[in-house]
Amino acid sequence: MFWADKLLEGRTGEEWINDAWTPSGIVHMGGLKGPVIHDVLFKILKKKNRKVNYTFGFDDMDAIDGLPEHLEKTHGKYMGIPICNAPSPDGKGSFGDYYGNMMRDLFDRLDIDADIYLASDYYKKGVYNKAIEFVLNNADGVRKVYANMYKKEIRQLADWYPLQIVCPHCGKVGTTEVTNWDGKEVSFICKPDKVKWAKGCEFTGKISPYDGKATMPFKVEWAAKWWTFGVTIEAAGKDHASAGGTYDVARKICKDVFGKEPPLALPYEFFLYDGRKMSSSKGLGLTGEELLEVLPPQLIRFLMIKTPPNQAIEFNPNQTDVIPKLYDDYQKAAQSNEDYLRRSYIFSQINTDLKPPKLRFNILTQWVQMPNMEDQIKKENLEEWTNYVKVWLKKYASDEVKFEIKEKIPEDVAKLGVKQKEFLGKVSRELEKEWGAEEFQRQLYEWAKEINLSSNEAFQALYISIIGKDHGPKAAWLILENKNLVKKRFEEIASA
Ligand SMILES: [Zn+2]
Repeated sequence: MFWADKLLEGRTGEEWINDAWTPSGIVHMGGLKGPVIHDVLFKILKKKNRKVNYTFGFDDMDAIDGLPEHLEKTHGKYMGIPICNAPSPDGKGSFGDYYGNMMRDLFDRLDIDADIYLASDYYKKGVYNKAIEFVLNNADGVRKVYANMYKKEIRQLADWYPLQIVCPHCGKVGTTEVTNWDGKEVSFICKPDKVKWAKGCEFTGKISPYDGKATMPFKVEWAAKWWTFGVTIEAAGKDHASAGGTYDVARKICKDVFGKEPPLALPYEFFLYDGRKMSSSKGLGLTGEELLEVLPPQLIRFLMIKTPPNQAIEFNPNQTDVIPKLYDDYQKAAQSNEDYLRRSYIFSQINTDLKPPKLRFNILTQWVQMPNMEDQIKKENLEEWTNYVKVWLKKYASDEVKFEIKEKIPEDVAKLGVKQKEFLGKVSRELEKEWGAEEFQRQLYEWAKEINLSSNEAFQALYISIIGKDHGPKAAWLILENKNLVKKRFEEIASA
């Protein structure tokens, strides 16, 4: 049974699916796994006419706590400021908008049907006011969970409150600490030494915690969202979902403090790059944008859902067959009657129609490298597919699969033996006739045999003469698609 069907089996009533992401950096391909997984669950429930919401939060009240190198100069002064209040690197909108718009674009292209909301918007509108009041009134309960999970003495946490004020003096949120709550206002201090990456201004004051003036710490906010919306399903990536990690803490706060059953537990594994966790800062792996350059959205969805979420997926496309294999698997799934594959295929589809190609990926790679194939590609409706194949060849393919028809006779032709030249002469003469590709391919073996030439040597001669390499794509196609050039060239080599 398809993992998503199994997960939803036996569930009844309204469902609320939620997911979130912090818009503070380029979207990594792994960052699309959560959105796609949740989208599949949403679409399955929709198809069953179940009442279901799918919301996706951009956590733009988080403090900027790190910057890519190229922004350190211009944005260093915004460290500690909420993402929604710092300017965008391109001058348009906020820092959060800049990255958030990239994610919105990826959602559109991948047909992810989530309702996106901004944390800053919800805080300002007072959506979380009730939850803020609740966690302040029940700060002791939150402290207990923290003490328990982190094996801390509860008295060490006695003065700690699950809330952070956006400092009205310096604008930073990462540096503040609430010191008291009187039921109406919180007392707070903006500390110079609270975190290493930002310096607070030492301002102290009393302020109402509502309507966007404060934000809850990540784990508390997570639980608060579940409680506020009534979230029933929210998966979490491995970084959060390890034992005792943020997901566990949030679930415990949800249960013990808010008194609500936490959502269905669904931890999911990462994409790996040569066995290591992908990381944009280390240059390991692809961004979402780069992935969409080389794979159509359908294949990206397929990649994310064909494997159950709790299994890691190795994905290093550089000079490997990872992408060709994915195409092959996708074609297989398109034809399959087997439930798991069929369901993976169905939920990979998006709102635009792109039929899987009839040809295998390795044939497509040959077609796009041969001249004069444009008409054939058009005829077979493969233009969109070949655009992706071209990107793969340019950026990821190994030299093994690349070839180009040489305009002049390649130098290595000098290495060909007498029999090999004789063979080329024979092929050239046979090209007077009309041939079908399959039949011609068979004949190539026959003609080699007739003159006691091994098929290895025969094909070597063909490839060296046309593409200057001793191996290449299926010879009959290569020859027949370039008949005039090949016929003349073989004749020339044979008579030299
Ligand atoms: Zn301050």
